[in-house]
Amino acid sequence: MTIKVAKFGGSSLSDTAQYEKVKSIILSDPDRLFIVPSAPGKRHREDIKITDLLYLCHAQVSHRVPFSEIFRMIADRYLQIENSLSINCQLEQVLENTKHEIGSGASLDYVVSRGEYLNGLLLSHYLGCRFVDAADIIHFNQDGLVDPDATREALEKFTSPGERVVIPGFYGSLPDGSLKIFPRGGSDITGAVVARAAAADIYENWTDVSGFLVTDPGIVPASKPIHTITYRELRELSYMGARVLHEETIFPVLESGIPINIKNTNDPLNPGTMIVSYADPVTPRGSITGIAGRKDFTVIAIEKNLMKRESGFVRRLLTILEQLQIRFEHMPSGIDTLSLVISNSELNSKLDKLLEEIQHQCQPDLLEVYPNMALVATVGHGMAYTPGISARLFTALYQSGVNVRMIDQGSSEINIIVGVENKDFEKAVASIYHAFFPETE
Ligand code: ASP
Repeated sequence: MTIKVAKFGGSSLSDTAQYEKVKSIILSDPDRLFIVPSAPGKRHREDIKITDLLYLCHAQVSHRVPFSEIFRMIADRYLQIENSLSINCQLEQVLENTKHEIGSGASLDYVVSRGEYLNGLLLSHYLGCRFVDAADIIHFNQDGLVDPDATREALEKFTSPGERVVIPGFYGSLPDGSLKIFPRGGSDITGAVVARAAAADIYENWTDVSGFLVTDPGIVPASKPIHTITYRELRELSYMGARVLHEETIFPVLESGIPINIKNTNDPLNPGTMIVSYADPVTPRGSITGIAGRKDFTVIAIEKNLMKRESGFVRRLLTILEQLQIRFEHMPSGIDTLSLVISNSELNSKLDKLLEEIQHQCQPDLLEVYPNMALVATVGHGMAYTPGISARLFTALYQSGVNVRMIDQGSSEINIIVGVENKDFEKAVASIYHAFFPETE
């Protein structure tokens, strides 16, 4: 028997029409046994997600401000779905109790987890299958990390083989029974944790896009889709800003190698993107998988003659960063040079102090600051052991007049990162894309 976990994001369950699509997707495949819903998301751009409204409710209660009006908006969304689909699961009463609990000062985690809880109740009735509370399934340990054994045992205890169940996303319980949520967007993680516990064959993650594109369509409108990507490539790309999945999603399924299939609720026949553990034989040599990047970094270039002979140089530098609590992204180095690439949001107002300390403690010959830098990562297993990849990439940048300020290639060779000026970011991404996909206009 094939076991599929199907997680549906907030946009897939935002209203009646989306609920109907989700039902037909689930019922069309009896292997879709574990259904993990998010809370209803935005129905249009200006709309507010249920989870955000719940955060607001909690804030109102903690400031002793009436929260009834906001709660009404929440209740109306669920009741509208319940009524229009004739679900009839007496949600009114559950909502009433929930409101009472929120008003009595329930914890933040409890309050915001209700978005998924209520949606899970509604969906399970609509599908005619059993609701299993995530508090009974997803177990966190004392340190707030998921306990895989306890979760697997609970799944065995609370579900029967071959039975379809709905388990709400985003939360679980601590050893003392209190609720704990994952980070925002964390229903993705629930899906992965359930997939591991159920030893699923596949984890389907249903959202509103048909998987990943090679690069941001805002920059390259005709960007090709990515059919297959490895966990490692995805990790590199999402770190650099490509967002579809919560970035912690892959860890629970990584070891067991359960593939994740990103699918589009609004285009269910599209194969989407498959995230797998090994690329072979799907990644052709010499190809790239994706390009992603982020703006607003500062590069601090440090030069000192015979730097490498001086023991403790890098340690002193790292100690300064640690003391000022500044995290850096990259530290490419040359013979007598070393650069620190730091996100502007990390630096805040600490730049002057940082420079002062480096000057004082490391006494460099040259200390230069390049603000307004962007990083562009070109990622792909197909790049490894293939000559000519960097030549193609740098020729493309040169031909489009992009000045490369920094180069960093991961030792695994699946990633080449270049630092360019913010103003050249889009140009850099587009020129790399076209160098590797010349057929796309
Ligand atoms: N509803 C939660 C959020 O908005 C979790 C999720 O959607 O994955 O962050």
